[in-house]
Amino acid sequence: MSSRPFIFSADSHIVEPNELFLDALPASLRKHAIRAEKVDDMIVTRTDEQVIYKMRPQMIALAGEKRIGARDLAGRMEDMRKDGVDAEICFPSLGLWTYALADAEAEYATTQIYNDWNNRFFAGKLDIFVRCGVLPVRNLDNCVAEIKRLASLGFTAAMLPSATPAGVPRYNQPAWDPVFKAAGDAGIVLVLHTGTGLETVIYERGPGAAVVNYTHQMNDGLDAVTFLVAGGVLDRNPTTQVAIIECGASWLAAVAERMDEVYAAHAPFVHPKLSLPPSGIIRRQVKASFQHDRACIAARNVTGTQALLWASDYPHAEGTFPHSTDVISRLFDGIDISEQEKADILGGNAARLFRLQRPEFAAA
Ligand code: MN
Repeated sequence: MSSRPFIFSADSHIVEPNELFLDALPASLRKHAIRAEKVDDMIVTRTDEQVIYKMRPQMIALAGEKRIGARDLAGRMEDMRKDGVDAEICFPSLGLWTYALADAEAEYATTQIYNDWNNRFFAGKLDIFVRCGVLPVRNLDNCVAEIKRLASLGFTAAMLPSATPAGVPRYNQPAWDPVFKAAGDAGIVLVLHTGTGLETVIYERGPGAAVVNYTHQMNDGLDAVTFLVAGGVLDRNPTTQVAIIECGASWLAAVAERMDEVYAAHAPFVHPKLSLPPSGIIRRQVKASFQHDRACIAARNVTGTQALLWASDYPHAEGTFPHSTDVISRLFDGIDISEQEKADILGGNAARLFRLQRPEFAAA
């Protein structure tokens, strides 16, 4: 092994052109265009009809060192070199709010516009960047169709909401089976990024709210895994891979063991029955990204090492840029782990899962 492992961030974001949806949606749907506007001292993400999200610009200033790659690919690669990151999967910014659109036609058009833009943006750089599509969920036939279209473009990953919005089936419902089957058949990893599908990420405004809110944000990923496993959707679609992003990863072992305990102790009430204990389904099909939490590494015999994907969350203020090398250097302190497992967690697992276009990560 080389002295320095290959580093893949399993959670990064690109900022789309602000006019992307305004310009590309047909006139009949243009009122649903998601864009950001500066209003007084706030940055407001909105459509004509709804304010989706408000953020103080200070949140961006708090990030400290300037990010030059939020929108620009050359700048992004310069920041990656500075931060010691070799490759990334890139999620949207405006497109994260797609699930605020209740209109099925507008939602479908928005996902297709984003996916086509993403495909053009990263063209020619697929040995460094993994494209990730966004899937529509207001009509699951559209979702299946878009999975197939993304696969035909060579995509290996696509997003579903981490929390199912009101009016969309929850993740324990068989209504999801065609979606998970299509993804498994097409080799598309289903990516659930925290916060997506929620009406708001503000859960509390009282004492400790900042810590409460961002800590609580892992619960959407935790709930999604619990529903997908307990309801049998993953069990019935055993080749489909799910990646839970920006929820940390240490909860995954705890949920696996808790679900095994409940599955056995409450057996008379358990429907549907599963072909494996819940922990076995998690080991087979669930991955999670993390930045700092080290308990997931210590507990990797429960989830399997392959479940753990290190990530930077570039360019976000709460991410590890420009200190990723320092964070990584302390990640394994006091944990008995092989160099191979370290390399897998820092990059190999994600590069293989998302089929990064480099020969060393091609399937055996
Ligand atoms: Mn993120």
